Amino acid sequence: MQTQILGLVTPLMSLFFAATFAVFWRMGRMKRHVLGFAISSGLFTLGFLATHFLPRDAFYLFHTTQALYSLGTTIFVASVCERAGLRIHLGSFAVVYVISALVLGLMVSLSDDVGPRLVLVNMGYGAMFTMGVTTLLMAPRRNLIDVAIIAVMAFQAADFFIRPVTTLMFEQSISADIYRDSIYYSLIGLVLGIKSIATAMVLMGATIAEWTTVLRESSERDALSGLRNRGAFEDSMRNLLPRAQTEGRPLSLVVVDIDHFKKVNDIWGHQAGDQAIAGIGKLIRKMVRGCDTAGRIGGEEFCIAIWNCPNNAAEQLADRIRQAFEGLQHSGLSNDVRLTASFGVATARDGETYEQMFGRADAALYRAKSSGRNRVENAEERHLEAERRPEAATPEPKSELIEFKRALS
Ligand code: GH3
Ligand code: MG
Ligand code: MG
Repeated sequence: MQTQILGLVTPLMSLFFAATFAVFWRMGRMKRHVLGFAISSGLFTLGFLATHFLPRDAFYLFHTTQALYSLGTTIFVASVCERAGLRIHLGSFAVVYVISALVLGLMVSLSDDVGPRLVLVNMGYGAMFTMGVTTLLMAPRRNLIDVAIIAVMAFQAADFFIRPVTTLMFEQSISADIYRDSIYYSLIGLVLGIKSIATAMVLMGATIAEWTTVLRESSERDALSGLRNRGAFEDSMRNLLPRAQTEGRPLSLVVVDIDHFKKVNDIWGHQAGDQAIAGIGKLIRKMVRGCDTAGRIGGEEFCIAIWNCPNNAAEQLADRIRQAFEGLQHSGLSNDVRLTASFGVATARDGETYEQMFGRADAALYRAKSSGRNRVENAEERHLEAERRPEAATPEPKSELIEFKRALS
């Protein structure tokens, strides 16, 4: 009775981990690999229950547990690798399983000694964890959590290779009917408990870290355009600008405002206007690089910070976005109607604050609006022109948008 109750400890613990990962996956809307952790923990739970509670003389005992552990291990390793953006070679896992299952069948029919069977199946699990570790080592970047995951996987692999051989050196042979009373069996209960806790804790830590990233990103994102919201964009600019200035890299800023947007709302309705905002958001996301930052800073105003990008290249990018937007069809609008947008471009100067840089890009946008819309104006070109012809230098026109924002605040 006592052993039966003790035998429940490992499966219950594993079931608890399965449930926790499932809740994380479902409630936290997390990626598929977290569901993989839940499924593999569930399969290990069934495996532990089978190991302890199936009739000890059942010929299928080893086959059942081997199938459950192999499938659990494969899903576990695949999920850990998917988390790192890597894929396992499923065929190799299938080969390891099939070979060990066939040899296991032969062993069960030839001898009652479970020792060699244990060595065989454990070698199979060890091989699977080793394949996982070698795949994970190919990841281009690793943080502390990734290293911890590789460490627990390597620990798993080492345990599967070393423990059965060393334990059996003391216990020579174990017949099937005394298997659950053997030193091997007591030891594996302890080791499995430690390994499961260590692995689940590391994965739980990784999952919580991913969950907080998901939460932070969704709180920083504007739902309609899929770009950063104003606060998040300004925060990233306040980090990027000093970094660009100290590293001596060019940082350019593009400010975009859709033309005659009030009319869009008036003619086609607010919902159609919203769809156009979503459309330009998608376009901007598609056209900027991963190292650039884009945000929706007002109703139909957007900002793009282009990292390590000189002024003329930023102007060209702005013009490419302008042209692409001009050709974009909007589902809420009549088929033959196209919208346009105006653009202001500025490139960071030494010692300049974000507000100053934005003010210059916004003033350029104002010029684009007042000189006919659907165009790109460059704050730096005007500056160069004024330097070349000092008598022609006129004060920058006051930006209507700045005034508008001032009036609002
Ligand atoms: P301009 O060419 O000078 O930019 O003219 P405009 O009509 O676009 O003028 P402005 O940029 O000042 O107009 C912004 C309009 O955008 C005002 C408001 O009705 C509309 N707007 C702001 N936020 C939203 C939104 O979330 N959805 C929709 N549909 N419209 C919005
Ligand atoms: Mg506008
Ligand atoms: Mg506007």
